[in-house]
Amino acid sequence: MTRYSDEFIDELKENVDIVDLISDYLELKKTGNRYKGLCPFHSEKTPSFFVNPDNNFYHCFGCGAGGDSINFVMEIENLTFIESVKMLAERSGMELPDMSNQQRQVYKERENIFSLNKLAARFYNYLLTDTNMGKEALEYLNKRGFNEEDIKRFHLGYAADEWQLLLNFLKKKDFSIHLIKKAGLISEGNNNSHYDKFRNRVMFPIFNNRGEVIAFGGRILDSEDNYGPKYLNSPETQIFSKKKNLYGLHLAKDRIRKENSCIIMEGYTDVIQAHKNGFKNSIASLGTAFTEEQAKLIKRYAENAYIAYDADTAGNKATLRGLDILNNTGINVKVIELEEGSDPDQLLKNEGSDVFNELIENAVNLIDFKINMIVKDKNLSEPGIRKKVLRSIVELLSGVEDNLEREIYLERAAAKTNFKADILAEEVEKEFKENKRRNYKSNREKQNKKKEKTFDLYSQLSYYQKVEEEILAHFISNPSLREELAGRISKNDFNGRTAQLAERLFKGSVISNSIHLDKIKEELEEELLSYWSEILVKQDNSLDRNRILDLADYLSSKRISKNKEKLCRLISKKELSLDKLNRILLTFYSLNYNIERRD
Ligand SMILES: [Zn+2]
Repeated sequence: MTRYSDEFIDELKENVDIVDLISDYLELKKTGNRYKGLCPFHSEKTPSFFVNPDNNFYHCFGCGAGGDSINFVMEIENLTFIESVKMLAERSGMELPDMSNQQRQVYKERENIFSLNKLAARFYNYLLTDTNMGKEALEYLNKRGFNEEDIKRFHLGYAADEWQLLLNFLKKKDFSIHLIKKAGLISEGNNNSHYDKFRNRVMFPIFNNRGEVIAFGGRILDSEDNYGPKYLNSPETQIFSKKKNLYGLHLAKDRIRKENSCIIMEGYTDVIQAHKNGFKNSIASLGTAFTEEQAKLIKRYAENAYIAYDADTAGNKATLRGLDILNNTGINVKVIELEEGSDPDQLLKNEGSDVFNELIENAVNLIDFKINMIVKDKNLSEPGIRKKVLRSIVELLSGVEDNLEREIYLERAAAKTNFKADILAEEVEKEFKENKRRNYKSNREKQNKKKEKTFDLYSQLSYYQKVEEEILAHFISNPSLREELAGRISKNDFNGRTAQLAERLFKGSVISNSIHLDKIKEELEEELLSYWSEILVKQDNSLDRNRILDLADYLSSKRISKNKEKLCRLISKKELSLDKLNRILLTFYSLNYNIERRD
């Protein structure tokens, strides 16, 4: 990974008040020397997200997320390391130093893909609005009810029915084939030739939430098959990940925040039509199923989401799973029920915003929606079908944890199906209890695991572990102590997870002020990384220098006496060769010497 000098990074972290930074995203409350709040990276009701302002670290004891201010920005803004550094530098009014050549290259490549995309979007837009080539596409858009203003707002365009029009244009603008390919705009043919990926398509640029073009979606203009699929999207690139972005968010985010709700649709044209009709909090997932990343992205802006999918899509399994993901992220999900064969685009165009508003008002929550899906088009007078429907409803409702809620849904389900309410209730309760029993063990295990991870962690640790963690935390966060600590302890003084961390930290001969902690961090597995932030958030900053050094000596003397015991055991065994005995005695003396020196 590219980086700035360690000095600059250290200075930057010093300058950024991590409590101030994180408070931009969630509410933090002071507790002792630390701050706590609801974790922005997983859904929770009691806060297990802690910030330690003394060493600028955060850690969530619920999901294990953690790190310093740069990690936080990377995670929550979905940025690279360099971009996060840039953002934090701007925030604290620091000037960015020059990067090395190689660093500059990698960073430059991303920047270049951004500007290449921007230029391509402009080119497509020009073809659509100002050339004869785009006439048919323009007519198509007009026919679908989109005017100049809509085209401008979403920066729509047209990819001409040519093989190398965009390629040649970008080449003339000095972009290399290598880069155009990396941006996903061309494909490779035979004999090393290249051609435009998007041809004869209406182009929908996809923006990130900062309003930069990161990818394209193209809709075929010709209905014949020889042009490929109806919709074609950019591949995943350095700057585009389908599962992490949402169409239209850059335009909708302010409104979403203001209204604390968004409307999630399926297609590009749905969103454009919605914005045109005043529903400016509308966005679309880039694919039918919702991902966790997208859910978290929404959670940053709003707590409520209305789903406006086509009737046939809304009911399918992948969609429902996506809705569950949204719901589990802590978003209150309501489904707008559209008539079979209708979509928001057509509906808004044909019936107008009043009708759509009414549908929003009548949107049903997820359980009601699922009941409707179970009952839909079923002939309930047929015993076999009736039984199946009953089974599905029992299964669904027995998953509702809250008693009162379960009761309410029961009544609604009974009314919808003409099942006797008390019989349905009996079945659901039976299944509910059965579920509980079945889940008891696994829940218990899960909860125990969770308990281990809650913040009163000290109580669960032995004194040695506490000392080990404390020493490592100070080693990491206190450069002026590093050398001295390194002279007193080695990785062998640690046990378990602290030993794993210590091994990485003490690796190599250089343990000085310039130790590349960020580099080590990059090499750590996720679990150790999480442990890293955990011990830093727990770090006791009231310990003074001497106390820390004492603790370090304590750790190493503990190891030495342990080794001495081992040696004694060996010596007491018979039949040691003279050679081995000599070696053991030498070690023994040196251990004693060490202990005396320290005492
Ligand atoms: Zn968390």
